[in-house]
Amino acid sequence: MTGTDRRSPAEHAARVEALVAPALAARPAERVTVAALLAAAATGATLPRRLAADARAVVALPGFDNSQMDGYAVRAADLAAASPAAPVRQAVGPAVPAGVAPGPLVPGTAAPVMTGAPVPPGADAVVRIEDADPPTFGAGPGGGVTVTAVAFAAPVAPGTFVRVAGSDVAAGDVVVAAGTPLGAAQAGALAASGVAEVLVERPPHVLVLSTGTELVPAGRPLGPAQVRDANGAALTVGLGQVGCRVTARVVPDDPAALLGVLAEAGDADVVLTTGGVSAGAYEVVRGTLDDAWFGGVAMQPGGPQGLGLVTVGDARRVVPLVAFPGNPVSALVSFELFLRPVLARATGVAPAARPARRAPLAEPLDSPPALLQVRRGRLDADGRVRLVGGPGSHLLAHLAAATVLVHVPAGVARLEAGDVVDIWEIS
Ligand code: AMP
Ligand code: MG
Repeated sequence: MTGTDRRSPAEHAARVEALVAPALAARPAERVTVAALLAAAATGATLPRRLAADARAVVALPGFDNSQMDGYAVRAADLAAASPAAPVRQAVGPAVPAGVAPGPLVPGTAAPVMTGAPVPPGADAVVRIEDADPPTFGAGPGGGVTVTAVAFAAPVAPGTFVRVAGSDVAAGDVVVAAGTPLGAAQAGALAASGVAEVLVERPPHVLVLSTGTELVPAGRPLGPAQVRDANGAALTVGLGQVGCRVTARVVPDDPAALLGVLAEAGDADVVLTTGGVSAGAYEVVRGTLDDAWFGGVAMQPGGPQGLGLVTVGDARRVVPLVAFPGNPVSALVSFELFLRPVLARATGVAPAARPARRAPLAEPLDSPPALLQVRRGRLDADGRVRLVGGPGSHLLAHLAAATVLVHVPAGVARLEAGDVVDIWEIS
């Protein structure tokens, strides 16, 4: 890695996008039942997904003409001459609670109808109970209908307070369009319109390989000179938040072990490695996957990066390889800058860009002028950026306590308190 082959962060981001986005666009859709989606949602473990094809309503919404109000179903023509001076008086017919299919409206009567209950055949309008005389059904809430006669002091236009069958969506029409992220309203609309199965975009499957002979998977005992795998945990959560499925493995700095894991990774869409890309003597990713580009990106942390193609599985599929440095803050800052936006755009389940704005620094900072420096910070009560920890790329607990990434562009060697910086909100 020399000064001359160092890329700008923007250029590297564009190259990651150019390599990864087309690979994700090609992934197949899968059919899932709405019941399975709901069961997953109920456990809190659902992967947010977009529909890969239009879902069409099996039944219309509403499924039948129904009342928008508690009131009386009437024939509008019966009330044409009603006025305060000469109200139209009618006998009260059988009440129609929600969930009951009424018989036809008897001519000359008004049928008590509750919100959502079918409008009886022959009725074409609903008069709100507040506009009837008496303005109650008699017995009070829950007590049924006790009034036997009702008077109306005004005409009503046909269609008033009638929710017409199919006015939301007709049977056979698109109820949720392809490309729409599946959220609460979409789930409700699918369920209500009788859709049992949908075609969804398969979540990208990312194989996360934490390389390092010193690494121990989370939960295992720690020996001398060993380190628990932070990147597998961090990237599993970060990738999950942008709608990816993740397989995370720890791989020692051994080419055969790395190739062995790749050979088993048949359905990965992207391979993401951490570690093993810098200038040490045991750089397994850089040394083994040598068809890929490895070089420097003008940023701190996250300088050493790799990008290319890698062969996975028995079928020897070729998929994108994105290689981040191993220091946990480097890996996560690399994820924020290079991979998270591409994946979020591909899945559509989270905004591709973090909320960004400008804020004044609460304290001075120094920055290597040739590099984009990404520092970690929090906003103080006055909305000023306080740094959390120093620039060291091993300060993971500090990153965990930070709420913003602070961008100090190349060309800047020092900023003073009060100078304004670009920040990304990461929490
Ligand atoms: P490398 O990029 O492989 O040279 O690793 C740089 C530093 O990051 C070393 O101190 C590693 O022990 C540490 N490191 C690498 N991978 C991980 C990981 N998955 N979790 C925690 N620390 C790591
Ligand atoms: Mg290493």
